[in-house]
Amino acid sequence: MKMFEAARTILKQLFLNPATNKFPAKYAPASTIQFLNSVTKGELQMIPPVPVPSKFRGKIAYDKERCTGCRLCIDVCPTKAIEFIPEEKKVKIFVSRCCFCAQCVEICPSRVLSMTEEFLLANYDKYADELIVVDSGELPGSVKRKKPAAEASK
Ligand code: SF4
Ligand code: SF4
Repeated sequence: MKMFEAARTILKQLFLNPATNKFPAKYAPASTIQFLNSVTKGELQMIPPVPVPSKFRGKIAYDKERCTGCRLCIDVCPTKAIEFIPEEKKVKIFVSRCCFCAQCVEICPSRVLSMTEEFLLANYDKYADELIVVDSGELPGSVKRKKPAAEASK
């Protein structure tokens, strides 16, 4: 009976679409760097990744302008990925230390942190510019804070 069920499962699998896709190329390139260089030059095409699911937690984004420097995000970050910049009273986030838990996003009272869909974060240098988030600009769906009357009249 078990043999019959196993055979049935195997046969069924033959007609299902694969759950994964061959990203970034159909066959593993001899050199990934060379492959990506050729993609940049337009000589080769990359097979795009599958769309990420909703509520995916990718690279963090940060709206510096609206950050109040309250430091709550620093307090909750379990990996010490967020550092305070005392001169500016703002923060910067080291993506290479981030474990994508989103606790900082949850606690931020100003809603200036969010998890994006970006997941291609491999880098030889963990301190590369693209892995240190200092300002991502206004976040999608964010509500602009009204300036206090005195500040607005300047
Ligand atoms: S919790 Fe939000 S407002 Fe407070 S310092 Fe962090 S990013 Fe800025
Ligand atoms: S997502 Fe988690 S690990 Fe990453 S910066 Fe925020 S609190 Fe720290």
